[in-house]
Amino acid sequence: MNDCVFCKIGSGQIPSRMVLQDEEVFAFEDLNPQAPVHVLVIPKRHVAAMNELQDSALLGRLFHVANLVAQKKGIAASGYRVVANTGKDGGQTVFHLHLHVLGGRQMNWPPG
Ligand code: AMP
Ligand code: ZN
Repeated sequence: MNDCVFCKIGSGQIPSRMVLQDEEVFAFEDLNPQAPVHVLVIPKRHVAAMNELQDSALLGRLFHVANLVAQKKGIAASGYRVVANTGKDGGQTVFHLHLHVLGGRQMNWPPG
């Protein structure tokens, strides 16, 4: 998608602090971190939100990469949270599907 910031990050047109990637998925540091570790995991191809993702293999791959991110960032043992804000009530602001991987501190429940 031409004017999508996360499409541009996934293809390298816009710089980001990459954590890791594979053929289909790209993980990078959030610009405005909400925890000591805050990484976004996106599909390289444009998918607007969870509602649009019919590809269960890609969904699995996103979670697999979230798992690898947690290991690489050293929070796999201490614990972390994976979040996909979806739509208006979900608090989604960038309409290219992304998983937030948050950790390095105690997460609160319920979320705000
Ligand atoms: P959400 O509210 O779930 O849609 O989350 C969007 C996230 O994208 C926020 O945490 C922003 O800080 C983050 N974000 C927006 N633009 C960029 C960017 N260019 N590089 C890294 N993170 C970004
Ligand atoms: Zn996009």
